[in-house]
Amino acid sequence: MNRHSCIVKLSINETLDKCHGFIFRFETWANVKDSLVEAYGAEADSVLFKAAINAGRRSAHRRLEVVRDKKEALKLLTAFKVSQNWGKIVFSKINFKTKKGTINIINSFEANKIKSLKPVCHFFKGYLHGFLSEFFQQDMWVTENICKAQGVHQCEFTFYPKKNN
Ligand SMILES: [Zn+2]
Repeated sequence: MNRHSCIVKLSINETLDKCHGFIFRFETWANVKDSLVEAYGAEADSVLFKAAINAGRRSAHRRLEVVRDKKEALKLLTAFKVSQNWGKIVFSKINFKTKKGTINIINSFEANKIKSLKPVCHFFKGYLHGFLSEFFQQDMWVTENICKAQGVHQCEFTFYPKKNN
């Protein structure tokens, strides 16, 4: 078993066992979100955002350890998250010098069967924030411009460094 084993296609059992994970049903996730809103009100969005940051950082760290160039790390992340059914992360318009870019997510798990006037992918946003901050070794801003929950085909995020050095 090589270190890429977590990014090749595995059966659900193998994925869960090798990658130390478990399954959440969409309905269960929706229950978690509802409970957070009940407990924290508008702050629930920021709780979800913050909860995912370290997972994103660890993910970038793991990918960067096994690749020769950064573009490969992004491809690995996309493949891994597709295999986990989080949705397909599409990195586009990335400028590696300015550290700015756009990310589309096709079928974000957070927007599954959700209708909302505002973007809802706060956990994914936190994950991307952590991933990109580790990836670029700089604190990043990530914004979800539009979300599948608002009736469009896919979610769109933009990112850029917090400080322009
Ligand atoms: Zn979304």
